[in-house]
Amino acid sequence: MHTYDESTDDLADEIVAYALDRIRMDPPPLDRPRTPDELRATVGTTVTPAGIGGHEAFRRFVDYIAPATISIDHPRYLSFVPGAPTEAAALFDLIVGASSMYGGSWMEASGAVYAENEALAWVAELAGFPDTAGGVFVSGGTAGNLSALVTARHRAARDRSDRPARWKLLASAGAHSSIDHAARVMDVEIVRVPVDERGRLTGSALAKVLAEQPDDGYFAVAATAGVTNLGIVDDLAGVADAAAGAGLWFHVDGAYGGAALAAPAHRPLFAGVERADSFIVDPHKWLFSTFDCCALVYRDPEPARQAHTQHASYLDAITVRDEWNPSDYAVHLSRRARGLPFWFSLAVHGTDAYKEAIETTLAVAHAGGDLIRERDGFELVTEPELSILVFRRLGWTADDYDAWSDAALDSGFAFCLPSVHAGETIMRLCVVNPKTTVDDLAAILDSMQDFQR
Ligand SMILES: *Cc1c(COP(=O)(O)O)cnc(C)c1O
Repeated sequence: MHTYDESTDDLADEIVAYALDRIRMDPPPLDRPRTPDELRATVGTTVTPAGIGGHEAFRRFVDYIAPATISIDHPRYLSFVPGAPTEAAALFDLIVGASSMYGGSWMEASGAVYAENEALAWVAELAGFPDTAGGVFVSGGTAGNLSALVTARHRAARDRSDRPARWKLLASAGAHSSIDHAARVMDVEIVRVPVDERGRLTGSALAKVLAEQPDDGYFAVAATAGVTNLGIVDDLAGVADAAAGAGLWFHVDGAYGGAALAAPAHRPLFAGVERADSFIVDPHKWLFSTFDCCALVYRDPEPARQAHTQHASYLDAITVRDEWNPSDYAVHLSRRARGLPFWFSLAVHGTDAYKEAIETTLAVAHAGGDLIRERDGFELVTEPELSILVFRRLGWTADDYDAWSDAALDSGFAFCLPSVHAGETIMRLCVVNPKTTVDDLAAILDSMQDFQR
């Protein structure tokens, strides 16, 4: 099984050729979901005592499995938050897989950790953190938010001798579902801070809740820089003030929107992020890396190390050294050096290219906003702040949006799912792919305009 022979060579040729073709495709096929019955009938049973062989297993992937997975980098994939890995990032992901690196400790992967830390340092610099900031790449925003909030609670617990009746986390209704999930996992209560008329968490609303509902169990506030449904940024400076006044850990979830820190014209929206205790951004979203990759950075990494270092006799050889071990900064131990494709892409292209690519997507999204504003029968729900467009097709019901969206995906035209805002079904398009053009957005509006059920 573990030999590299002629048949491995043949398989390598097939696999590498396929990978290169896929990376070259412009655009890639959108593809679409299949039912379990369809997949049973086509892919069939693949895991057998004798094995089906490399060629056959790969054929089933190419013919049936790949077409049943949507390409997140298709320029008209505008649902959720798309991704658009650079060719450099996608290629380097092959290397990470081939190299059998253990990305958890300095001892085992010093070179990889050094490179990952170079990329993290750029993220920390974007956020305006001091040089002493540090962190780790985790699987996604969900893992990043959880790890940051665990650190926050650990620090709060360390600073007192008793325990509150209930630990409490402050967040707005706009906070991502992963913040709720973290609260469930940690068994803490979320206290909701009302949002302003634009849907933002503000410092004044936070201060009001703290004054009107005093409690000794508050340990952190989680603000969002780029609310996933509407793409708006909370009042980070105001929240930073209120959090500092109350001695709370200030976490900023920029999983989607944090990338816009690289666009100088949008930087003022994020004023105050530099005062956060922890910050996350997902390079697999708007920083052009492959899944799965979230950059988690702490202003002061020490409380994170105290919260997350695992101690075991077999690990002591690592933990007793004064070295930077990525394992120590999140809820994990073994880890893939998942920051390397991002690092490689940054190193290849330079941060100026990142800035330009992000500015391109922002310009396309804002031009799309103009198209919607000018078009009869369409109406913006909110003015676009980052790169998310939310709008109505006047007269449409939820069923109309669903029917159009299904038809667009079935035909391979586009993947655009409706969303819900204030109880109303609306259309939501998220632009993070520099290959998405204003013409793509116009084609989508045309298709919605002409659609007949
Ligand atoms: C996408 C997103 C998350 C979750 O990130 P995953 O990488 O999917 O775990 C968290 N917060 C925000 C604001 C997001 O947009």
